[in-house]
Amino acid sequence: MAAHPKRAHPNAALPIQWEVVAWFAFVHFVGLVMAPLYLGMHYRWPTVALAIVLFMLAHLTVSAGMHRLYAHRSYRASKPLELFFLLFGAATFQVSMLVWAYQHRMHHWRSDTDEDPYSIVHGFWWAHFLWILHPSKQQEPEKLKDLLANPLVVWQHQYYFRLSILMTFVLPTCIAALWGDAIGGLLVAGFMRLVFQYHLTWCINSVAHTFGHRHYGPAGSARFSTYLALVVMGEHNHERHHLAERDYRVGIKWYHIDLGRWFIELCARLNLAHDLKTVSEEEIRLRIRAQRKPDRAELWPGAARETRAPVLNAATEP
Ligand SMILES: [Zn+2]
Ligand SMILES: [Zn+2]
Repeated sequence: MAAHPKRAHPNAALPIQWEVVAWFAFVHFVGLVMAPLYLGMHYRWPTVALAIVLFMLAHLTVSAGMHRLYAHRSYRASKPLELFFLLFGAATFQVSMLVWAYQHRMHHWRSDTDEDPYSIVHGFWWAHFLWILHPSKQQEPEKLKDLLANPLVVWQHQYYFRLSILMTFVLPTCIAALWGDAIGGLLVAGFMRLVFQYHLTWCINSVAHTFGHRHYGPAGSARFSTYLALVVMGEHNHERHHLAERDYRVGIKWYHIDLGRWFIELCARLNLAHDLKTVSEEEIRLRIRAQRKPDRAELWPGAARETRAPVLNAATEP
């Protein structure tokens, strides 16, 4: 486990958003107390199957859609695939695609600094979820130009709350009502599924920056975490991902579990995804040596100059 200095993030000085605290307390109580009690009394396997299916669809959306398509533009997607991602992105009940992409871009471009909203430098629990309880910096439109030009993304941003209620709670309730278990649909496939969805997504910000190995030298806090591979079914080669964020693959060996990559490749075969980008090992080595973070110049003008890697300096070069 990494020894990270515990210094408060500047956002921690901002007032706690108590409505967010209340929301997470409520979701955890319903999802981890009421839902298991209900399951104990009214177990219905189709409801559990529904929860697993919705979990997997939303999980694929986090990995292949929110992360690799919108935050990193590591490939291009057809409109039907985008619509799928934007609807199931709302089912993760986090923030709109636009806000999520901005936060994640800052996590890469300002990695391990005070401008990284979930920087691990400020502690495991800060990176896991405490950062969400405080206000974050406003989005800077110039860093989201590509997404602001996408009408589907803007539409999801405008109707995000209504879409989230619909996809997270109304949808499972209506589907489970088909076999007479609407309450189970709401509690198990809605709330309980959401709690697991939250923590698995958050683990990538906390676990993948704390546990595991670094194969490319101490260039940053991101790690190769085998534990994470088993739990989140991908995203575990996080160290390489931070050095090659435009690569649509996070797992590069045949034995690396990478559900997001497999899904993108399936979509490419079905002509739903194209222009899949890759970054070679040689490019990564060159980038480490050149002491600059990868890919940023392509995302907004001046990015490479502006964010000359605070974590990839001569002192930490492998
Ligand atoms: Zn990271
Ligand atoms: Zn990323």
